Amino acid sequence: MGFDELADLLFPNIVTTREELEQRFPDRRMAQGANVTRIGPSPTGFVHLGNLYNAIIGERLAHQTDGIFYLRIEDTDDKREVPGAVSTIINAMTYFGVNFDEGATAEGDNGEYGPYRQRQRKNIYQTFAKWLVRQGKAYPCFLSEEEVSAIREEQNEKKEDIGIYGRYAEKNRKLTLSEIKEKIEKGHKWVLRYKGCLNSDYITVDDAIRGRLEMPRNFHDFIILKSDGIPTYHFAHVVDDHLMRSTHVIRGEEWIPSLPIHIELFREFGWEHPIYCHTATLMKIEGSSKRKLSKRKDPELALSYYQEEGIPQDAVWEFLLTILNSNYEEWRIANPASDYRTFPYSLEKMSTSGALVDLDKLRDVSKNVVSRMTAEEVYEKWYGWCMKYDEAYAGLLGKYKDRTIAALNVGRGGDKPRRDIETWKQAGQFMSFYFDEKFEIVDTMPEECDKEMIGSFFRQYLERIDYNDDSAVWFGKVKELTEEFGFAVKPKDYKKNPAAYKGSIVHITNMLRVALTGRSNAPDIWDVTHVLGEERAKERLSRWL
Ligand code: GLU
Repeated sequence: MGFDELADLLFPNIVTTREELEQRFPDRRMAQGANVTRIGPSPTGFVHLGNLYNAIIGERLAHQTDGIFYLRIEDTDDKREVPGAVSTIINAMTYFGVNFDEGATAEGDNGEYGPYRQRQRKNIYQTFAKWLVRQGKAYPCFLSEEEVSAIREEQNEKKEDIGIYGRYAEKNRKLTLSEIKEKIEKGHKWVLRYKGCLNSDYITVDDAIRGRLEMPRNFHDFIILKSDGIPTYHFAHVVDDHLMRSTHVIRGEEWIPSLPIHIELFREFGWEHPIYCHTATLMKIEGSSKRKLSKRKDPELALSYYQEEGIPQDAVWEFLLTILNSNYEEWRIANPASDYRTFPYSLEKMSTSGALVDLDKLRDVSKNVVSRMTAEEVYEKWYGWCMKYDEAYAGLLGKYKDRTIAALNVGRGGDKPRRDIETWKQAGQFMSFYFDEKFEIVDTMPEECDKEMIGSFFRQYLERIDYNDDSAVWFGKVKELTEEFGFAVKPKDYKKNPAAYKGSIVHITNMLRVALTGRSNAPDIWDVTHVLGEERAKERLSRWL
């Protein structure tokens, strides 16, 4: 058959050539070793942790080498597209500090290698598809859904590979030009299939994370264009990553099984394939076993979860870096003050078994991240979060800015900075006692202190303590009172001889904490008193008289 005629019959409107496209998207002029990476999310409206996980790798590889990191929207599956999804992706990435040098933007495109939305690249794909038809390497297939299902059933029964190949492909491969013409004229739908050849070869691919992968070479007549002329992921990936000159393709390990298809296409076009980096699936521990994170069961799979919980962006990054590179934590300990972006990220240090998402670990990382911030930084970030997620609280933070910053300064800095704020949401609960509007007694007074004792203790305390006492003088007075009330100044003494005391200084300070903050677990009493101010502190203690 005349393949040129077939190509013109199938793609009458495609006049561009392969060569023209190669010229339009030339090799990027970049320094040697500069990486070009991308993420290719589908616009489903759901941005998941895996998107950020892969984005961080791409961003690091590109920006560590003065390369390019770009965003491509993979919208070939129109059933999954929701309006506004592109902005959702970009906003989520920007929120987490992942910035693109190039690619799709909410308004359109930024860069010379676009369009960056696959649906807008239909002519580009069809140009390459037409070329394949001309080479006799692709053909229209008119199999109906029912026919394909029947083939699948037969293959299932015979325990054969599922797909269209060999004798299952014969009927459509053998159609003559006039038969094809007739079917098309009659309005029969067709997809374009690649002509695979039956073989028992193997391919090898050196994955930058997993090392050498060896797999049987493709022999399927896989689909390259769907009946609406839009490519499958496989075809779009190969054409796009070639033309956009990606050096690395970072994607989930679920794509490994289709690697033979991709390699087949790269070979057919005579192109070098990018370096593949197949990342491990995100897992979580449940009971004693690991399982894949699930969209239905695990809210933490959605990137919005981290925003809603108010987990600082840097904490999410650092947490992902600990999962991504086994030496990150060691590096952090050696470089406590460095920006995490100066950590030399490397693909060799990536794990190939499931990446464990442990929220306790995340909270721990987050505590450290917040502990390294200045009080002003914490205030700004917390306030920013409240403006979006807790307006009432934002009102308080706006009104009492100085008090809040003073409160945040309690125990900050030094060798052992406070590590008590994990998330902005939790900061709101934790810090609520600084605001009368939120103050409530949460914990009970220690058993060792009865009502009468509390009343008379606070009376004495209020008489004897001068607000201007420094913390050493203040503590001296607390110790005196402790003794006078029959409590042990040294908890050790109380432990040794409990019968000789009513309790210890621990009970006394807890009592003060509950009265001042509503909780027995709170920052330093002297500091808290001075953030609250004389009047407010007095008022809270007086309630117990
Ligand atoms: N659209 C693909 C996905 O969402 C992207 C895979 C890739 O990066 O090549 O899984």
